[in-house]
Amino acid sequence: MHRPPLSRRTVLKAGAATAVATTAAVALPTTAQAARPDSGVSAYAFPLSAVRLLAGPFQANAGRTMSYLTFLDADRLLHMFRLNAGLASSATACGGWESPTTELRGHSIGHVLTALAQAYASTGDTSYKTKGDYIVTQLGLCQDRATARGFNTGYLSAYPESFIDRVETGQAVWAPYYTLHKIMAGLLDMHLLAGNAQALTILNRKAAWVQFRNSRLTLAQRQAMLRTEFGGVGETLYNLYQYGENAAHLTTAQYFDHAQIFDPLANNSDQLNGFHANTQIPKALAAIRGFHATGTTRYRDIASNFWNFVVNQHSYAIGGNSNGEYFQPPNAIASELSDSTCECCNSYNMLKLTRQLFFTFPNRAAELMDFYEKALYNHLLGAQNPSSSHGFHCYYVPLRAGGIKTYSNDYNNFTCCHGTGMETNTKYGESIYFYNGNTLYVNLFIASTLTWPGRGITIRQDTTYPETSTSRLTITGSGAIDLRVRIPSWTSGAQVRVNGTLTGSPTPGSYLTINRTWASGDTVDISLPMSLAIEPTPDNSAVRAVKHGPIVLAGQYGTTNLSALPTLSASSLAATSTPLQYTATASTGSVTLLPFYKTHGVRYTVYWNVTTTPTLPAFVAHYQFDESSGTTASDATGNGRTATLSSGAGRTTGRTGNAVNLSGSSQYVTLPSGILAGATSFTVATWVRVTTLATWARLFDFGSGTGTNMFLVPRSGSGTARYAITAGGAGGEQRIDAPAALPAGVWTHVAITHTGNLGILYVNGAEVARNSALTNRPSILGTTTQNWIGRSQYSGDPYLNAAVDSFRVYSRALSASEIASLNSSGS
Ligand SMILES: [Zn+2]
Repeated sequence: MHRPPLSRRTVLKAGAATAVATTAAVALPTTAQAARPDSGVSAYAFPLSAVRLLAGPFQANAGRTMSYLTFLDADRLLHMFRLNAGLASSATACGGWESPTTELRGHSIGHVLTALAQAYASTGDTSYKTKGDYIVTQLGLCQDRATARGFNTGYLSAYPESFIDRVETGQAVWAPYYTLHKIMAGLLDMHLLAGNAQALTILNRKAAWVQFRNSRLTLAQRQAMLRTEFGGVGETLYNLYQYGENAAHLTTAQYFDHAQIFDPLANNSDQLNGFHANTQIPKALAAIRGFHATGTTRYRDIASNFWNFVVNQHSYAIGGNSNGEYFQPPNAIASELSDSTCECCNSYNMLKLTRQLFFTFPNRAAELMDFYEKALYNHLLGAQNPSSSHGFHCYYVPLRAGGIKTYSNDYNNFTCCHGTGMETNTKYGESIYFYNGNTLYVNLFIASTLTWPGRGITIRQDTTYPETSTSRLTITGSGAIDLRVRIPSWTSGAQVRVNGTLTGSPTPGSYLTINRTWASGDTVDISLPMSLAIEPTPDNSAVRAVKHGPIVLAGQYGTTNLSALPTLSASSLAATSTPLQYTATASTGSVTLLPFYKTHGVRYTVYWNVTTTPTLPAFVAHYQFDESSGTTASDATGNGRTATLSSGAGRTTGRTGNAVNLSGSSQYVTLPSGILAGATSFTVATWVRVTTLATWARLFDFGSGTGTNMFLVPRSGSGTARYAITAGGAGGEQRIDAPAALPAGVWTHVAITHTGNLGILYVNGAEVARNSALTNRPSILGTTTQNWIGRSQYSGDPYLNAAVDSFRVYSRALSASEIASLNSSGS
């Protein structure tokens, strides 16, 4: 944070205090509680109590945090509140950022109240509410003592009100309003989620005190004060106002509009470099709630522009942001890898902001929820230590090569991220499902049940995602629902089945909508094939992170520290039989890659120097065979990968224009070497009119001999069309077998696509077969030198007797609809 002479890390080690962090408070979480409806909102959250997690990594994380909440001694947390109010306390003081001399003391009780309220709402276990109720009662007693202690009415804190004098007059003090906000947010959550009436009373008194303190200041005094981190106090005041409390809370919320930050954002200008990241995110969160409260579009634009800047120009592959807690120049990522990247509070707050923007911009929903998923899985899910029964939490998540995650503890840490970690891990049910009228959004693939309040409909989601790429929804009850299933932008070949029947054409980066009157027992099976991706950083294309679908993979380095990014051979990446686990060859030797969220207790690298064979264009080559003479087949993509007609191959009338005509004796077409070198996804699509079917004759065969090749035959020894790929001879082949041979005598469109572990074979624009365990990809073949149409790597196989037209090669998997349109357009 901005104050300290010491770095935060130094502070942590010293066990002292200085520096800071965040915000809290679930924005109004329930269906129709708000007395003042939100402006500009067209999607809504279900109450946390309507969603129950089923077994899985999220439920496991939640369980650990909830056991910590049960363990925590409320009287120790209350100790400094009581002393500050002149009440007796014999409890042992807490340590870390809650120590009696730390200026941030008292913030954790706010996090604990929020976490207890969420744990109660998420599970129905009243022990959490009972503990929260006790804390609220005790805080009420402390607040009642304010005037007796010489504080102004409504003041409630673990430190004296003189801290507020200091921040108002520009004297050094850590972040007093930040701390007060946590308490306010916790009180609001105890009221909204756990039905505690006294919490609202205390909060209203405290909000009136905030109004009193700030209404006495000039605008210039307030703006000067706002340079000190103040967390989400504005957001909570907007929430309180929207809940229908005193209209004065709106004025008070707007006292916290920070012009230095808001003005450039309103002009869509990224001036974030050099600002403490987590001080700013809650300001954007307050801005979007300000829009919901007032309809002022300037607030909406500030929040939206901020989100765009942070997500697109300041975020790492895991979805986190900041180095040393500060925003860096736009797109400085590879140059900003350290042990203090990605403070966890930042992503906690970015997810809150993303959620509010989702309510506001349903048209951007897919983009917003793609980011939500990225930061949720890759940053926050993996920031809790699974070896700790109390859910100890990271502060930073290091992204330098050789970094290692470190965690909080029971009583001697209490950092901001320990606090927001308690909140994150007790509200995983909040963003899986949303609704608007009859529309139900399924945004995340987390094992859970949703009981739709007032509808008598329950949706059960069973999945082991992301270890599998599928999820099943089962409906109990009946009624009309427009189901909207998120199809992430990173997938290809997605399928959705209703009661076993393929439905719609899922488009990545959008929602698949199924309008239907549902009945008990109806099922929706969602398949979202994941593929390997190697994502470059914006400031250095050689520095890359490896992902499988949405999941960032990290190289596992045990106790070995690293002084530089290892160099990774991209073509060596090979999936293992364990989901999401790869092996590869790097400059450090052979290395295992695991999901980053599962990487704990070892040193790791998320980023690599990546060596690749020259990157293939997405559309590699296209042979139309429209030349009227000669042996050249030009490449219509303009990439210059000219093919050659060999052994006298001729031409005939094609599907469009001319086609190459192969006689079945010795004629074939030669494509350039390395036609798919390094590709981890691909498509080959072509028109063929088989003259005479000959078993094992190749439509195409790309390889370097019988050991290493990929091929497609119109008829294999099994009598049907087959695609196969191997780097280990015939015995190492992975295959897709069609149900029938290709027909003879008619123009037929054939396509093979492969991404992730999913290969699909299409005939005449329709899928005929698939293999979802296809781990052999073109990259394992290296730079193939014998790339042929009509000829086999095996010299004993027959040559193809057929005409071939419009032969296309891509380094990506075309979607089903793209294949269908190639077929229907005849091109
Ligand atoms: Zn933090």
